[in-house]
Amino acid sequence: MAFERPSIIRPPSEWKSYYLPITRGCSNNTCSFCGYYGSKLRLRPLDEVKEEIDALALYKNSGIFLSSIPRTVYEIGKMWYGKRVFLQDGDALIYPFSKLKGVLEYLNDKFPDIERIGTYATPKDILRRDIDELKELKRLKLGIFYQGIESGDDDVLRKVKKGADYSQIVEAGRKAKEAGIALSVTVILGLGGVEGTHRHALETARILTEVDPDYGGALTLTLVPGTPLYDEWKRGEFSLLSPFEALEELEMIIANSSFSNCFFSSMHASNYFSIRGMLPKEKRRILEELRDVLTRRDLSLLRPDHLRGL
Ligand code: SF4
Repeated sequence: MAFERPSIIRPPSEWKSYYLPITRGCSNNTCSFCGYYGSKLRLRPLDEVKEEIDALALYKNSGIFLSSIPRTVYEIGKMWYGKRVFLQDGDALIYPFSKLKGVLEYLNDKFPDIERIGTYATPKDILRRDIDELKELKRLKLGIFYQGIESGDDDVLRKVKKGADYSQIVEAGRKAKEAGIALSVTVILGLGGVEGTHRHALETARILTEVDPDYGGALTLTLVPGTPLYDEWKRGEFSLLSPFEALEELEMIIANSSFSNCFFSSMHASNYFSIRGMLPKEKRRILEELRDVLTRRDLSLLRPDHLRGL
């Protein structure tokens, strides 16, 4: 079956990247809140990936278009400034090691000015690689893993079928660090529902402290129609937090976590209120901002629901 190019889903910080699909879907397609739920993993043939890299190089070096190459390649290529590449899709680190190496070598060969290549990676994808393999990928400029931690609460992780538990997530983070690969993680406010909010927040603060990532981001749970969690909510078996309850979780997470040096933000469009800054350096300022909003309880200070996005 021909490989179908996935739509572009990427971390906000990859906005300057060339988006190169090497997979489609996600190998761990069980997370009950995620749009990738039930998706079929497809691996793109290495030859086809190389063909796209060749076409991109021809276009960037000589302005030549090939009619056999999808327009998207040129649309993304036109805006691309040549320094960063983001490998699609949901967990591109699942791509077989020798082939992944092949992609990275080819990219480096055709675009020697590339500074960093990034990918989404599940904890199991990282654990599946031995440390020498990870170091080899790093040598080939795979410089950042984006990982959804979602929660530090094992009950929540189990319920949402994350496919990894607390200790596996911590171990994966340790391994990435040992290989010198930067780690950018996200957690989801509200994933424990109303009943589990305290435990979810405190355990999430604990896992963030243990993983000690370079970048951390909070998202707010947004239910996706067609996913099991959406259906649970419809049946009244899962309760969503109110906007201020979600911010209370964020406050608890920031207050109870401890980082060496982490850029933390809640700038993502799913959030009701944005904070950003370096932790621990700006912890006090961030907590003051959050506590001020929580004290005032003024809805006009929050992003309205119709402007929130996934
Ligand atoms: S591992 Fe990530 S991309 Fe895959 S289903 Fe879970 S949340 Fe979605």
